[in-house]
Amino acid sequence: MSLPFQFGRPPPEQIPSQTSYEASSKPRVLIAGAGIGGLTLAILLKKAGVPFEVFERNRDVKQLDSVMALGAPIAPLLQQLGIYDDLVKIAKPLAEVNVITDDMEPVYTMNMDRLKEAPDLYDLLWKQVPRENIILGKSFHNFDQDKKSVLVRCTDASKYYCDILIGADGANSKVRENMYKSLEGTNVLSASDIAPLPYGYICLVGQTNVLDPEEFPDVKEEFCKDYFVVGTNSKYTWCTFITKKNTLCWMVIEFLDRAATKEDESFRHPNWGSQAAETMCNQVRDFKVPGGKDGKVHTLGDLIDRTPKDRISRIMLEEKLFSTWHSGRVALLGDACHKLIPSSGQGATSAMHDAVALANWIVSLESPSMVDVNNAFKEYQAERYPIAKEEFEQNQGFTNVLGKGIRSAITRSVLRWLPDSVWDGSLTKMVLVRPQASFLPLVEDKGTVELAPQPSLTKTLPIIKERALTKERAAKRSSVIAV
Ligand SMILES: Cc1cc2nc3c(=O)[nH]c(=O)nc-3n(C[C@H](O)[C@H](O)[C@H](O)COP(=O)(O)OP(=O)(O)OC[C@H]3O[C@@H](n4cnc5c(N)ncnc54)[C@H](O)[C@@H]3O)c2cc1C
Repeated sequence: MSLPFQFGRPPPEQIPSQTSYEASSKPRVLIAGAGIGGLTLAILLKKAGVPFEVFERNRDVKQLDSVMALGAPIAPLLQQLGIYDDLVKIAKPLAEVNVITDDMEPVYTMNMDRLKEAPDLYDLLWKQVPRENIILGKSFHNFDQDKKSVLVRCTDASKYYCDILIGADGANSKVRENMYKSLEGTNVLSASDIAPLPYGYICLVGQTNVLDPEEFPDVKEEFCKDYFVVGTNSKYTWCTFITKKNTLCWMVIEFLDRAATKEDESFRHPNWGSQAAETMCNQVRDFKVPGGKDGKVHTLGDLIDRTPKDRISRIMLEEKLFSTWHSGRVALLGDACHKLIPSSGQGATSAMHDAVALANWIVSLESPSMVDVNNAFKEYQAERYPIAKEEFEQNQGFTNVLGKGIRSAITRSVLRWLPDSVWDGSLTKMVLVRPQASFLPLVEDKGTVELAPQPSLTKTLPIIKERALTKERAAKRSSVIAV
C-alpha cells in the first residue's frame, strides 16, 4: 500500500544530494499516538512549519465517553491556537465538586469555579491537524537510532526515518518500552522505571443520551455540579458530571485490594471486553446518585439504562511517574511518562503542557543534530518532570479523599472541618502552570494567580526573535537587490 506521505528521509545511500541532512535545519518529527498529547504537539508543529507525521494504531479514533475537566492552565495555549472560543462553546463551567457518602450525606464541597467540563476536547483538537499528517491503523513497533537519525519500524513491517521520535502512545507506551530496553545496563533507568506498571483500580465509564430536564433538573443549570459518592462499606466510588449537551458522564472506580500488574493471573483470563463491562454494570446498578427532581435519588442503573452500550467502557487504571523521559533523539510525553488516575483530572492538561514545552524546544533547535536534540530534551524534562511530580502527589491526595481504608476515612472526616483557605491553596497550585508557545503570538495572561516560570518560553523566545530579525533583514536585502 502506498502511503499518502512517505515520512522521513530515505536510507542514507538513497538521499539525493540536494535534500541532504545537513541542508535541512528543520527536524522531521514522527509522533507515535494521536491522543490528546500527540495531537497537541502535531497542531503546534503544524503552526511552526515543522514537518511531522502522526502514527495512530487505531483505525478509528475514539476517546472514552468520559468527562474532561479543564481550566485556566490550558486557556492561554488554546487562545494561541485560536480554539479557545470553540472550547468555551462546548464546555460547561464547573461550579463545585461535592463529595458525599452513599447515604447522600455531604462530606465536603470543593469550589471549582476555575474549571470547565468539556468531554469533546479531543474532537476539537482532531479537527486542527491536517488529515494527511495522521496515518490511522499504523502501529509503532520498535526503533533504532544513531547519530544521524531514528529508524522506526511499524507492526506492518514498514520502515521510516526521522530526526525525532516522540512517544505519545499512552500508559503502555511501546516507544518507552523500546527506549528502556535500549538503556538496559546503562544505569540511566531508576528501579521504579523498570518495575511493571501497577494497576490499582478498575474503572467503568459511560455517557448517557440527552436527559429529560424534568427527571434530571441539574441539566438545566448553567453551572455544572459534580458529585463523587464514596461507598462507605464497599470498594467503589462513583461520580457524575453534567455536560453542555445535557448528557451525563458517569464513572465508577473500583479500588483493588492490592495493585495488580500485567504479569498477574487476572490478565491471563478473558475478563475484559463488553461482557465484563456488562457484569460490572450489573454489580453497581443499585448505587444511589443524587440530582433527581425534588431531591429524588436516582441509581446508577437509571443512568446505565440511558447509556448506549457502545458508550460504556471498562478499563484498568494505572498510576506511575517515570523518571526517564528521553534518550538521544527519542522523547516521551503525556501518559507515556506520567500516568495519573483521573482523581484530580489533570492528565490531559499535563499531556498538553508537555507538548508545548517540547514544541518550543523542537522549533528553536539550531540543527537536528543528536547533540542539539538531546540538549533540547534535557531542557524539556528539567522543566516538566518537577511539575509532573507535583501533579502526581496532588493526584494521590485526591485519590485518598475518594479512597478506601482508615487513612481515607480519617482524611474525609478532617476535610469537613478544613478551612476554605486550605482547599483554595490546593486549587491555586493546580493553576500556576499556564504555558505558551514561544513561536506563536503571545496572549495576555489574565490569570489572577501568579504564573510559574516557563523556561521553555523564556529561553527559546530570544532564539525565535533573533530568527525573525534575521529573516526580516534578509528580506530587506533581497528587496534592495531586486530594486
Ligand atoms: C476515565 C478517565 C477520565 C479522565 N478525566 C480527565 C479529566 O477530567 N481531565 C484531564 O485532564 N484528564 C483526564 N483523564 C486523563 C486523560 O484522558 C489522559 O491523561 C490523556 O488523554 C493522556 O493523553 P496521551 O495523549 O498522553 O495518551 P492517550 O490518550 O492514551 O493516547 C495515546 C494514543 O496512542 C495510541 N497508541 C498506543 N500505542 C500505539 C502504537 N504502538 N502505535 C501507534 N499509536 C499507539 C493510542 O491508540 C492512543 O490514541 C481521564 C482519563 C480517564 C481514563
